[in-house]
Amino acid sequence: MDIRLHNTLTREKETFSPQNPQRVTMYVCGPTVWSYAHIGNARPPVAFDVLFRLLRARYGANHVVYAANITDVDDKIIGAAAETGKPIAEITALYERIYREDMSALGVIEPTFRPHATEHVAGMIEIIETLVEKGHAYEGQNGVLFHVPSMTDYGKLSGRTRDDMVAGARVEIDGGKRDPADFALWKAAKPGEPPEARWPSPWGEGRPGWHIECSAMAKAVLGETLDIHAGGLDLIFPHHENEIAQSECAHGKPMANYWLHNGFLSMDSEKMSKSLGNVKLVHDLLKEWDGETLRLALMSGHYRQPLDFTASLLTQSKATLDRLYNALRRMDVEADEVGAPQGVVAALSDDLNTPLALAELSALATEANKAEPFEWPRLKGQMLAAGALLGLLQRDPEDWARGDASEAERIDALVAGRVAARKAKDFAEADRIRKELAAEGIEIMDGPEGSTWRRV
Ligand SMILES: [Zn+2]
Repeated sequence: MDIRLHNTLTREKETFSPQNPQRVTMYVCGPTVWSYAHIGNARPPVAFDVLFRLLRARYGANHVVYAANITDVDDKIIGAAAETGKPIAEITALYERIYREDMSALGVIEPTFRPHATEHVAGMIEIIETLVEKGHAYEGQNGVLFHVPSMTDYGKLSGRTRDDMVAGARVEIDGGKRDPADFALWKAAKPGEPPEARWPSPWGEGRPGWHIECSAMAKAVLGETLDIHAGGLDLIFPHHENEIAQSECAHGKPMANYWLHNGFLSMDSEKMSKSLGNVKLVHDLLKEWDGETLRLALMSGHYRQPLDFTASLLTQSKATLDRLYNALRRMDVEADEVGAPQGVVAALSDDLNTPLALAELSALATEANKAEPFEWPRLKGQMLAAGALLGLLQRDPEDWARGDASEAERIDALVAGRVAARKAKDFAEADRIRKELAAEGIEIMDGPEGSTWRRV
């Protein structure tokens, strides 16, 4: 079955055709590791993890090469190091580890490569030298700049006109900048910047600009022309536009054949905070919700559309997973080894239509709930195969059910603690527990037979 993907470059849905089906390449811009990841930062890894799974199913797991980089040098990282007095490497190692743990909890398969910017500085310098030689870049007072007017089709990805770009750029014609749209390839070291954030180069000590990192890492691990380059909508301009400028002017060939961008995630912050407190970070959300629930919530909308991330979306997603796992649990048989159902494959092959794929999976659960036991092995096999393609349902259904039981035990223990506190006349503690549970949406009911609780 053909895979069709919406290409930002052509603004059309196109049939995907890799350069080499034995080595399909995909690059997704990764995080800058200076703090915890926001749930919005998790949308591209989850959306393009579904694509990675689909490509592996279509071309073979060993024939798809996926790189997602780690930006481990940047102004924010240098700022965090200065603020905390910790070495840069300590900060980036910590937040990279947390990021990888968070993504793993969301069911994201580890990409084939995770290149680090600081390990590819030589490759960046090489591309910048080529750009200077070819007349696309020049040395200013504060480093090396890409000269935007030197590229005739600059702006083709974002569709921005020159006027838009100049209006959007910070107009600083100082520093030896020849054109307001020109952007930094190499930044000369500033006094006071730590030694681990500077590298020697033909233009003196300094560090790379952000855009050149991806051009160099994509080339080093995947090649000069990628099949797919993806990321969030906010990266189209200037980041991806500038990656194209650097790579295409240096190599004389397209940087990527298909450019995919996911839509924004908006937070219904008022409603969320009522029940969840600080909910913006994946790390915090994982304390309250199962990673699989968060994943399903992120996949509930089409990746190109905006997604409103609300508490009720999470509640619904949890209920959907309960229903799916319960259907699997009822079918107490060995599953058949079958492929994912046609409907699910077709939905995902049509520009990653996850809402439709999830509806197909849900219909399969409905069918399973009504089916005769002799049909269970096939239906169970189909549900599991669909789940594997979506990155869902791979846990023991009994464990999923027990997850709920341990949650109930935890609440029971808190309620018992409150009863004990009241008996000891420690009303402050009793009140603290009541408030803590109320914040989770749990109401305690005191009656003659003791205290019980319910979710409100
Ligand atoms: Zn990038």
